[in-house]
Amino acid sequence: MNKKLYVISGSSGVGKGTVLKGFLERNPHYMLSISCTTRKPRPGEVDGVNYFFLTREEFKDCIENDKFLEWAEFAGNFYGTKKKYINQCLEEGKDIILEIDTQGALQVKKRMPEAVLIFICPPSYETLENRLRGRHTEDEATIKKRLDQAKIELERAQSFDYRIVNDDLETAIKSLEDVINKECNNA
Ligand code: ADP
Ligand code: 5GP
Repeated sequence: MNKKLYVISGSSGVGKGTVLKGFLERNPHYMLSISCTTRKPRPGEVDGVNYFFLTREEFKDCIENDKFLEWAEFAGNFYGTKKKYINQCLEEGKDIILEIDTQGALQVKKRMPEAVLIFICPPSYETLENRLRGRHTEDEATIKKRLDQAKIELERAQSFDYRIVNDDLETAIKSLEDVINKECNNA
C-alpha cells in the first residue's frame, strides 16, 4: 500500500498545533508523530502524549545511536523524530503527519523525497507575534528567540510543496484537508 508522510512546518505561534488538532478531529485515522525534545514540558503537557521529554544526555545518546530520522536545534532546545515509529506506521499502512521545524522538514525531504511538505504561514508578522505572546507559554527571552527564528523559517517556505495561510482557522483546516485529499488521490 502506498502510504504518505506529511510534514507540517511554520513559525512558532503560527497555529500549526491548532490547525492540526482541527484536522485530526475530523480525520482521526491519520497518525501524528510524537517527537522527542529536551525542552521542559509546558503546564498540561504529558510525556509520551505531547512529546517524549528527554534530558540532553538521552537526546545525545539517540543521535549517536542513529535513532533519529531527523533532528534539529530550535531556539535553544533539541527536537527529533524517531525512525522506529515512522517506519512502523508506514509498514502498517498508516498515513503519518510530522509537525516539525523547517530544518527537520528539509532533512526528511532529502531522505524521503516522496514526503509532502506543507508550510503554515501567518497572515502577517504582527499577527504571528500577537499569537505567540497571546499563548502565554514562553518568557520574553524565549519569545524573542522564537520571533528571530520565525524570519528564518519564513525564508524557507519557498522550498515547501504547499503553503497555507492560517488567517481564518476554519479556512486553514479546510485548505489542509484539500491538500491532503489531493495528495491521497495522487498516491
Ligand atoms: P504553533 O503550534 O504553531 O506554535 P499554536 O497552535 O499553539 O501555534 O497557536 C498559537 C496561538 O494562536 C494559540 O493561542 C492559538 O489558539 C492561536 N491561533 C491559532 N490559529 C489561530 C487562528 N486562525 N486565529 C486566531 N488565533 C489562532
Ligand atoms: P515547541 O517548543 O513550540 O513545541 O516547538 C518548537 C518548534 O520545534 C516548532 O517549530 C515545532 O514544529 C518544532 N519541532 C517539534 N518537534 C520536532 C521534531 O521532532 N523535529 C524538529 N526538527 N522540529 C520539531
